[in-house]
Amino acid sequence: MSPLIRLLAFAMLATPAVAAPDLIVLSNNITTSDDAQPSAQAFAVTGGRFSYVGDEAGALRLAGPRTKVLRLGTRRVLPGLVDAHIHPLGIVDLDQCDLGSKPQTLTEIAGIVRGCVARYKLKPGEWLNVQQWNYTNGNQPDDDNPTLRAALVRGAPANPVQLLGNDGHHGAFNSAALKLAAANGQTFGLSRATLAGQFARYRELIGVDAQGEPSGGVNESARATMGKSALAIIDVAAVMKAPERVTQRLNSVGITAFLDAAAEPDSFAVYDTLEARGQLTAHTSLAQFYDPDVVARADGTPDFDRMVADSVRWRDHYAHDPLIRADTVKLFADGVMEGNPLAVPPTLPNSPSLTAYLQPVFGRDAHGRATFAGRYVDPASPVCAAARQAAPDPAVFMRANGFHPAQCLTGSGRLQHPRPVIMEFVRRMHAAGLTLHIHAINDAAVRTAVDALEAARAGDPTGAGRPDTIAHLQLVHPDDIARIGRDHLFLAMTYSWTYTDPEYDLSVVPFVQRVKGDGYAALHAADSYYERHAYPAGSLKAAGATLVAGSDAPVFTRDPQPFVNMMGAVTRATGGTPALGPASERLTATDVIRAYTIDGARSLGRETDFGSIAVGKSADFVIVDTDPLSVAPNRLDKVRVCETWFQGRSVYRAESSVSTCPFAR
Ligand SMILES: [Zn+2]
Repeated sequence: MSPLIRLLAFAMLATPAVAAPDLIVLSNNITTSDDAQPSAQAFAVTGGRFSYVGDEAGALRLAGPRTKVLRLGTRRVLPGLVDAHIHPLGIVDLDQCDLGSKPQTLTEIAGIVRGCVARYKLKPGEWLNVQQWNYTNGNQPDDDNPTLRAALVRGAPANPVQLLGNDGHHGAFNSAALKLAAANGQTFGLSRATLAGQFARYRELIGVDAQGEPSGGVNESARATMGKSALAIIDVAAVMKAPERVTQRLNSVGITAFLDAAAEPDSFAVYDTLEARGQLTAHTSLAQFYDPDVVARADGTPDFDRMVADSVRWRDHYAHDPLIRADTVKLFADGVMEGNPLAVPPTLPNSPSLTAYLQPVFGRDAHGRATFAGRYVDPASPVCAAARQAAPDPAVFMRANGFHPAQCLTGSGRLQHPRPVIMEFVRRMHAAGLTLHIHAINDAAVRTAVDALEAARAGDPTGAGRPDTIAHLQLVHPDDIARIGRDHLFLAMTYSWTYTDPEYDLSVVPFVQRVKGDGYAALHAADSYYERHAYPAGSLKAAGATLVAGSDAPVFTRDPQPFVNMMGAVTRATGGTPALGPASERLTATDVIRAYTIDGARSLGRETDFGSIAVGKSADFVIVDTDPLSVAPNRLDKVRVCETWFQGRSVYRAESSVSTCPFAR
């Protein structure tokens, strides 16, 4: 607690009659997220902060002539929600070519791209970026559009086109774009020849067709070879035209604090502008993002000195800001773990795996969807040994063997940066007093993140209590679950991703473990590695980690949808599908509200300022139409926010058309 807050709290306790509250809220159902007093029937707000939490009589005794009293009956009141991993500048809808995450066939995608070229009146050669591409569902090829590349050429023959995966990691490009790929300032284009030469280091990130030519899929850092336009995921200039839409959308779903999980300095002006206009109606934490591949010395090695100096300068710049902090730095340990079963040969996942990926042989059904009958290529077979020697003609080989010869090779994916770079980045940033926020999806990346944090803490004992956070954790080896618990790490999980979906699961599970088919039972065998250790929220919590919640919006959807995410945590299912993993991995509604409030604030290092309804803290709270603590778990996603209050003022009120909001006062 800052001296000022302590003084304020003390002053109010000592002389309640002098400072009558501005507001008193009465409800039989106040969840405070404060361990000392988990529930209450009333609270008071004075000067933007909670000045009393307790029973109704105690609150009403404080009322003065100008105190406003809000009588909410049995309505549930929660502390303002904390989204501990989001990309806020991507959550507003802009006028841009957008696939809206809807599954579409390649022919449909080609049509949409053609429409966008016309709608935005693009001249030949101008880039077209197509947002929110669903890369795991849909994308069925046909004879006219056998590959992503072919479909995008059809849609826009004269313009470089990129589909931006709705995860921020996948991309797809047409020939005009692939032609622009450059290395060391020289343009070579991406082709079978340059993939074996100038661009060999990106091979795992680039999908190829049966002839070895790029088939359009280009992921992760390989996208940057096509220039800056290829990575324009967030359009800061467009957001700047109406930056208040960012905080309005956050407040409309109950969010009053967040971590921008990859904040680049050129976007800080958005928050500064909002704050200057009094429109920054959420506590803002910036996870500063510097890519060690980009912030490099002349010899190409990461410039750690510069990254540390920049991080420290911005942290200090915001250290005394009323609303903004920049105490955290972001690092990607890996990318994402979906392969592409529709490509021939199938594109393997590229995130790092503790065991080598398998080589499933997929088929296609009449609608162009991938199927899997349980057949795998055996790289140790004589056929494969011969294929690796002789480099046979793919078409001839496929006719004889029923799979592409490239499937005789295996891979284990890769870290986003070489392990020594990750270790050094974490060590240097930690030593400089910054908090780490590390993206880690697959088991080998999670292990590397834990290794790096443990080493950094061992060398920097003063930083042991810092809320270092790992984000996502799609697959975690049980040994690392135990370590994460012992280290008391914070974990930002997106609970709406924890569900089963045969089409999505086919892009992951058959590569990770041997499965016998493509149905639910085959992909989700109860004792299998993936099923037991995918998003192991319950195990991580039981081991001693602190769970927080991050929507990762606009990944999958621009809506930060906290109550949909809560439903995911509690049910690990969506729309009647069977649950993912054992029941012991599910959280309770109380757990996930805690993750979304006080524990989220702790992960930002700001729990003395907000995160619970407690005297002295920022008066941020949410009134909902349905009680998330008593509603059926599979209806948690139906909870609507009626009102959001930030620093004691109303910043959002639902339209009267929304369910049972508003209500009589
Ligand atoms: Zn993210």
